[in-house]
Amino acid sequence: MIAASPIRRLPQVVADAIAAGEVIERPASVLKELVENALDAGATRIDIAIEGGGLVRIIVSDDGSGIAADDLELAVERHATSKIAVADDIGRVRTLGFRGEALASIAAVSELRLTTRARGSSSGATLHVRNGALLTRGAAAGTPGTRVEVCELFSASPARLRFLRSVATEGSAAVRVAADLAITHPHVAFTCTNDSRVVLRTAGGTLRDAIRAVNGARAERDLLDVDAPGPISVGGAISSPHAHRASRSGLVLIVNRRLVHNRALLAAVDESYRGLIPGGRHGYGVVTVDVPEETLDVNVHPAKREVRFSDERAVFSAVQRACWAALRAAPALGAAGHAPFGFALAALETRDGDIAVAGRSQPYLQVSPAAAAARDGALNDMGVHASLPAMNALGQAGSGFLVATAGDTIVLVDAHAAHEKVLYTELLARWLEENPEASGSQLLLIPVVMDCAPHRASQVADEHDFFLRCGFSIEQFGPGAVRCTAVPMTAASANPEALIGAIIDRLDETDAGTEERRHRLAALVACHAAVRFGDRLDIAAQQRLLDQLVATPGGTTCPHGRPSVLVLDDAMLRRAFRRPAR
Ligand code: ADP
Ligand code: MG
Repeated sequence: MIAASPIRRLPQVVADAIAAGEVIERPASVLKELVENALDAGATRIDIAIEGGGLVRIIVSDDGSGIAADDLELAVERHATSKIAVADDIGRVRTLGFRGEALASIAAVSELRLTTRARGSSSGATLHVRNGALLTRGAAAGTPGTRVEVCELFSASPARLRFLRSVATEGSAAVRVAADLAITHPHVAFTCTNDSRVVLRTAGGTLRDAIRAVNGARAERDLLDVDAPGPISVGGAISSPHAHRASRSGLVLIVNRRLVHNRALLAAVDESYRGLIPGGRHGYGVVTVDVPEETLDVNVHPAKREVRFSDERAVFSAVQRACWAALRAAPALGAAGHAPFGFALAALETRDGDIAVAGRSQPYLQVSPAAAAARDGALNDMGVHASLPAMNALGQAGSGFLVATAGDTIVLVDAHAAHEKVLYTELLARWLEENPEASGSQLLLIPVVMDCAPHRASQVADEHDFFLRCGFSIEQFGPGAVRCTAVPMTAASANPEALIGAIIDRLDETDAGTEERRHRLAALVACHAAVRFGDRLDIAAQQRLLDQLVATPGGTTCPHGRPSVLVLDDAMLRRAFRRPAR
């Protein structure tokens, strides 16, 4: 048995080092805290230098308010802050910092030099702390503002060092934080060097200016403004549907001017792209959310990375609605109608017998994974438009593809995918009106009764009103069965048993609110009601479908984001037949 050790009070230095672990995980966290302090001090320019991944040195200088010489020691003490005074203040924090822990935590695990001159003061002061111990303090010259230099981070904390990644990875994580903060505070001019290389420079301007400076002009051009004022106000700029990426990391989320992580809100943004981009792909850009301070808890994470909303659902749906409105208004979705028909293939290469699309983002084509990866870097600058011109049906080829002409281009259409999108869009538009009558139901001549597990049957009962709004009359029918007496008009041609069965099967799928459920249900109904792949359509039915598709926003992809249309334009056909270009 282990002998009981006596309990001791830890020396302050040890306690501080332990507490520092919560706030300061890696160099990027140091950088974030220092820059946030500069922002809180009202800086208009912030210069950052990172060396050796931030482990050798991080310097942040600002032109903010500075710190009064008398307060200098307090600044590096734990729970010392100028930003809040009484407990109630925590509920209405307007600054980024408020915990009074960052400088103390950093000083506990590094060598920290702080030089500052308060505005209006004729001289400055400086302070030197190593691993929590004050070494020197004195007077200093300098311009108003503050400069904090952090060296040898974690050199006395081998355990912490072991958890860090490579110097390069830590360095780029720190740069990433600097870039995100520059976007979060676009009016402030930022510079950042990483091992003396300038990696970031913003001039101080609008959000788009900052995004352009950080992500490049091409990425910025593909952004659509999000602008939904209100008690929960949503803004920012997100990528239009043709410019998606493989990872979610391109999306910056800002809540009350605070850079935060929030899975629910990221999901809300993703949700708004549903049906517009292929599954597994993500939009990028910046979404800003402003909510009344009293509905936001910023004190839930030591590094202030997370926030909590008093009504997360309301924020979720505000974000989703705002993004959806931005995407829907995009010319790329055909709202503008007459966008130039410029979505021909940039290049069609034949490699090993496969067709590969090179060059740019193509919402109409399933491209190879390699090409998909390549296009993230190479965004189109020729203007890809997802709106379709009027088409003339010519016939049906092979396993069911429709062949049509549109001006001097040939268009191939996946009839099932196209019909699915038409029906899906129709259903959603009707359901969004929130008017139960408008949904239009078709009574079934013979009600469908289906056996199912008791918990399913009760789930159906719980969702009765939702289904009714969507045009279904479906209810629990005894403990282990459901009965459906009506389906949406649009689904009149679907096999009701198969449709109801599929609905019941999917009741468990992750569920993020009514809107997501509506999308899912609409996609399901559309899939069951649409012509099947391979169904023969007469020429009149083909033409009808093409006309409907042209009238459908985003008609070039099916509800799951797969392409429904392939366009072969004149230039491309000439290239394929080795004819000189026009
Ligand atoms: P917090 O930001 O939570 O108050 P910190 O430990 O980050 O805690 O900073 C402690 C205090 O030091 C701040 O409240 C602020 O008064 C002062 N301070 C820190 N950095 C700066 C800066 N760059 N400019 C002006 N004052 C600063
Ligand atoms: Mg702070």
